[in-house]
Amino acid sequence: KELPSDSITENSRRQVVEACYSYVSPTKTKAPKFIHVAKSVANLLGITEEETQSQEFLNVFTGNQLLPNTTPYAMCYGGHQFGHWAGQLGDGRAINLAEVLHNNKQWTIQLKGAGETPYSRTADGLAVLRSSIREYLCSEAMHNLGVPTTRALSLCLSGDEVMRDILYDGNPAYEKGAIVTRVAPSFLRFGNYEIFASRQDHKTLKILVDYTLRNFYPNCELNKTGYIQFFREVSIRTLDMIIEWQRVGFVHGVMNTDNMSILGLTIDYGPYGWLEGYDKGWTPNTTDSQHKRYRFGSQGDIGLWNLLKLANALYPLIEEAEPLEEILANYKTTFAAKYLGMMKAKLGLTTQNTENAKLITDLETVLAKTETDMTIFFRNLATVSKTLEVPVKDELTFLAEVMDAFYKPEELKGEVLFFWKDWMKRYVARLQEETATDDERKQLMDTINPKYVLRNYMAQLAIDAANKDDYSIVDELFTVLEKPYNEQPEAQKWFAKRPEWARTKVGCSM
Ligand code: AMP
Ligand code: MG
Ligand code: MG
Repeated sequence: KELPSDSITENSRRQVVEACYSYVSPTKTKAPKFIHVAKSVANLLGITEEETQSQEFLNVFTGNQLLPNTTPYAMCYGGHQFGHWAGQLGDGRAINLAEVLHNNKQWTIQLKGAGETPYSRTADGLAVLRSSIREYLCSEAMHNLGVPTTRALSLCLSGDEVMRDILYDGNPAYEKGAIVTRVAPSFLRFGNYEIFASRQDHKTLKILVDYTLRNFYPNCELNKTGYIQFFREVSIRTLDMIIEWQRVGFVHGVMNTDNMSILGLTIDYGPYGWLEGYDKGWTPNTTDSQHKRYRFGSQGDIGLWNLLKLANALYPLIEEAEPLEEILANYKTTFAAKYLGMMKAKLGLTTQNTENAKLITDLETVLAKTETDMTIFFRNLATVSKTLEVPVKDELTFLAEVMDAFYKPEELKGEVLFFWKDWMKRYVARLQEETATDDERKQLMDTINPKYVLRNYMAQLAIDAANKDDYSIVDELFTVLEKPYNEQPEAQKWFAKRPEWARTKVGCSM
């Protein structure tokens, strides 16, 4: 249903009201071509390996052929972007193809970049190859790291050229169009609920919340108590997801409420990035470089801010602020406790000690004193022995195990070295209180501190090659990132500091 025409002024965005979604067919593409399929995701859906190689698979997952008895649709959502209500936003370039029930699990299959929808606003509904490679590789890498995320089934070229506003010489730049097939139980976002609350359409809001509970939160009853319980569970899932981001050094980059999954899944891989130097102030998003709203160290707080917006959206169905406020207050204390637990695990500490919190904050301070690679540092910390002796003299041998993590080892002197000595002494003393042997501790730490993450430059190398029709790096990275905690000596070259040329390379969003 559309708003009455007198409410639409010239050039305003088309608003879709009293509807959770609109039926829309994907746009047919010129010359679809297959790049990659995630076999494990095909498995989830009951698609055989043979089927993934068929023409039909290519046609369906590039939007050129509809599955029988399906009615694809785009969902209606709004969102708070960078702290401000932005109104109706999507789905501007995502189309849900179908829902599948396989092995008792419900999945929604969604094409990203398959053409315009009623929510596309002024944009084209398309996606370019570079951002599609980033989304495809990263969502599967995150899953393999054990981080809750939407999945990706396939990556295909559309064969169409997509214009993006990158002007090299005054001329529009064309790029290869691509389509990623995403898979998740649901792609509902906080913004799906916010849009109806903002329009005071409480009837549709209730329909959507009840649908969500029936399908995804079956232990919540369809009444006020159930809605409060629903909000509590969403807050826990959101918190747990962000703790996992902090554990692996993932920075989402655009934590707007339209990018927050109601299932606590990492969703919408845009200008995300991975920490290289351990820096809580870092964001990969160049459009956020001034305020750094979505920097690494703020993700927990932003999760809370977003939950507050969701609470406001659900309020009309609950009409009681106190239980919602209590859940938000709980988030703060729980976050601090779970963060401490997660960091303890990264350090290989299992026993209680009142010194733990201080040991961890001091580590975070010293890691930031000279640029130190997060992934390499924590991975190699597991090889530090509890018999390590920290010398009184100014020598660096006690840092030998983690030396590879320092971008500028020449800065390990004076105050920085003093801090490191002090920290390492206390760490080793803590290790001596643990009953685990060095080997046992390493084994455990290696399941928590990944060896391989999708560093920004790695994705960039895959993109540069792909732009020259060479998809071998996409293949290679996909395979390495399937087992991010395994040693994989053959992949050792990806366990290395970011090369200097990639220092200023950041993510991309469009
Ligand atoms: P994002 O900040 O990337 O999450 O984008 C916000 C919203 O803009 C998305 O939910 C989409 O609906 C929409 N959008 C982004 N890119 C496009 C595009 N190329 N065509 C249509 N809509 C888009
Ligand atoms: Mg988005
Ligand atoms: Mg996006």
